[in-house]
Amino acid sequence: MTTATMTEWRERYSHDLMGSYAPPLRLLVRGDGCWVWDDDGKQYLDFLGGIAVNSLGHAHPVVVEAAGRQAALMVHVSNYFATPSQLELAERLKTITGAGEEGRVYFGNSGAEANEAAFKLARRTGRPRILALKNGFHGRTMGALALTGKPALQEGFLPLPGGVEHLDSTIDALEAAMGDDVAALIVEPIKGETGVVPLPEGYLREARRITERHGALLIIDEIQTGVGRTGLWFDFQREGITPDAVTMAKGIAGGVPLGVMVTFGAASGLLQRGDHGSTFGGNPFATTVAIAVLDEIERADLLGNAARRGEQIRAAVESFGSSLVTEVRGRGLLLGIGTVEGAAPAIAAAALELGLIVNPINPTSIRLAPPLIVGDAEVEAFRDRLGQALAAS
Ligand code: PLP
Repeated sequence: MTTATMTEWRERYSHDLMGSYAPPLRLLVRGDGCWVWDDDGKQYLDFLGGIAVNSLGHAHPVVVEAAGRQAALMVHVSNYFATPSQLELAERLKTITGAGEEGRVYFGNSGAEANEAAFKLARRTGRPRILALKNGFHGRTMGALALTGKPALQEGFLPLPGGVEHLDSTIDALEAAMGDDVAALIVEPIKGETGVVPLPEGYLREARRITERHGALLIIDEIQTGVGRTGLWFDFQREGITPDAVTMAKGIAGGVPLGVMVTFGAASGLLQRGDHGSTFGGNPFATTVAIAVLDEIERADLLGNAARRGEQIRAAVESFGSSLVTEVRGRGLLLGIGTVEGAAPAIAAAALELGLIVNPINPTSIRLAPPLIVGDAEVEAFRDRLGQALAAS
């Protein structure tokens, strides 16, 4: 990229867009599979996948076909009407989450919106307290931000909706806080925005037992972990539990905005007519693309691929024996490379120069969330480029 060009679009960006994001790294113009190109024709291996969104990578024929087909039929109709794809996707989601017959599905447009629905679900129990975890991330809208356990993100926006308490991620802390006045506990199986930090082994199983004992809802935020990313449809399924609600977004429609809450059992009756809604929620365009994405995940065994490639990528990182790397966390294709203090941004910057996109989510963590279609060639290219980036850092 010529410096003049980069200077020009960066100036336009800062002049015209709200200053709520860090300055963008590159101007990207197209993608294909696990690869993207910038405006100067430079090619990058995309191991961030739009932050765990591009489950089928870029310009996947299945997504292109479904989007084109549905756009030619109708993109949107409003929730005064039903559409075949909305009905089909709801049924599919009840099946793959395990919510089954008694399950119900609410469609919105983003992760934060899915969690707003979950927040309202919790309020409808009539109980005043909601438990969430310190350092958990549930989104940036006011309700989702209240659930988010990061005071630095909340401080400028107080007062937030009340009643939310943030606990340490231990069963002892949960036992101590739990009571019959608790509406819900909301947790992520792996804290993605905190650097890909899994909950302690067995936490969800114990949390299910404790919430059940007190009649509180267990809400699992699978917005980053869900729809195949960790090698199962949903990460909670690893622990063999049944939650009361699961929220998802990101990868479900391969990049088309769609947020979802699926409820289980009695929780399915908590939200009644008029309680919630969203103009775009569940429109035929997003739901058609989501069905195509789910079909392809099944057809190409991308759950198995996520599990296998995740292990390959972990082994590749560990094989360097770099003194900058302290550990590799996470499951499937949601991985966090732990680094010594302050090393993550420099490694990611070196990788970008070498044509590899990874995400330094904090000074000691690099997040990897490549498309679920990642194959041998991409894992090899990743190993090669990361190795060079580590050596250069
Ligand atoms: N919950 C989790 C676990 C997330 O990782 C995110 C986004 O990173 C959200 C909620 C918010 O999703 P969105 O950015 O689509 O609102």
